[in-house]
Amino acid sequence: MCAVVGVFNVKSASKVAYYALFAMQHRGQEATGISSSDGKNIWTKKRRGLVTDVFDGEENFEYLKGSMAVGHNRYSTAGSHSVLDAQPISAKYKLGEISVVHNGNLVNKEEVRQRLIDEGAIFQSYMDTENLIHLIARSQKTSLESRIKEALEDIKGAYCFIIQSRSKMFAIRDKYGVRPLSLGKFENGGYIVASETCAFELVGAKFVRDVNPGEMLIFEKGQEPISIQLYEPEPRPCAFEYIYFARPDSVIDGKNVYEKRLTMGKILAQENPVEADVVLPVPDSGIAAALGYAKESGIPFENAIVRNHYVGRTFIEPIQEMRDLKVRLKLSPIRELMEGKRVVIIDDSLVRGTTSKQIVKMLKEAGAKEVHMKLASPPIKHPCRYGIDTPSYEELISANMSEEEICEKIGADSLSFLSIEGLKESLGHDRNYSMVSFDGEYFIA
Ligand code: AMP
Repeated sequence: MCAVVGVFNVKSASKVAYYALFAMQHRGQEATGISSSDGKNIWTKKRRGLVTDVFDGEENFEYLKGSMAVGHNRYSTAGSHSVLDAQPISAKYKLGEISVVHNGNLVNKEEVRQRLIDEGAIFQSYMDTENLIHLIARSQKTSLESRIKEALEDIKGAYCFIIQSRSKMFAIRDKYGVRPLSLGKFENGGYIVASETCAFELVGAKFVRDVNPGEMLIFEKGQEPISIQLYEPEPRPCAFEYIYFARPDSVIDGKNVYEKRLTMGKILAQENPVEADVVLPVPDSGIAAALGYAKESGIPFENAIVRNHYVGRTFIEPIQEMRDLKVRLKLSPIRELMEGKRVVIIDDSLVRGTTSKQIVKMLKEAGAKEVHMKLASPPIKHPCRYGIDTPSYEELISANMSEEEICEKIGADSLSFLSIEGLKESLGHDRNYSMVSFDGEYFIA
């Protein structure tokens, strides 16, 4: 998972990109970067770390000159943890200079990379995104636009690309629209394209519309964005964006994320009622679903687990012992609210089972009489290949254990999940959502 942003025809574009990346920090905390263009040169700064750590002073924006910029927050799904795998990736080629940012995951990355290497290409990173740069550079077409179109023919997978040359910007969403991408506009006529609409609020841009699946937008000085429908849309937007990834204030494809989470909680309560005294969320990811559950069941809601906001998402630590410790560093119960009570605890999802196990233990130690663990998504049985960092089959607890076995392992009194049907109902039947993690239907082979 990553965040991408493109800013066009705006004064101090790199600063606008910075604020947009800051609003989308939740989509990736591993590395960040911005490339700007002043029409003559492309300037880039990228490094491992959070947005505010990497861009830690005014001098960054003086260096990143110009009225156009692209930016990226990295959450590794492909590539390594080295700084070489931070984006944007910039390159000089026959027609000039470009920089590219990418959110998603390319499913044919290995074969394309191998073919390019066999033909003599020298790669700088392990990122699938670099394939696109090579394909653009090697194309014999005479314009960047037609080179991009040709390069895309060789690329399969989930992608939102924003590509900047010295004078133009291109935003492309794959035909399935797996990852979100929206267009916003500034009062002065400038534009912004970003993974999530929460970025627009912060920088003062107005939401215009979502980029369509299969669409390419071209931004050029002195004219309105040009839209080219490259591929017939076959929409399969990712359900996990609504479940976990996106910020609750974002609107994806016309649907507010918070409202969808409330509904997931509501349907979870209808499907899995339980006798209990209090409903608690795992903060922050379970809050909206827990509210939905409490409203529907009539069981009082208490925000009884305190989150320390200075600890990042638990997934970031690659080592298991550190992950265990991080849950305890991050979450702490308010004993007075649960002592002697039958507690329903709600989280958005169960991946390896680390968080749930720690939380059940924590609640029992804090005096809860019963702990009923409820997940506002179906069991994750398959790794995502389209840009969400879910681990391999071996690590996915629901791929290896029955619900009874998991319940025993995490030490809960009961365990239940939202059904796939319930999730579809929550999101609405107007679209065929991508549910690969739950149903294993890999629709991009
Ligand atoms: P686990 O502890 O391994 O069962 O992971 C579940 C927790 O991680 C839940 O609290 C989720 O909010 C969160 N989560 C789910 N999917 C992801 C992901 N792809 N990256 C980071 N965190 C996740």
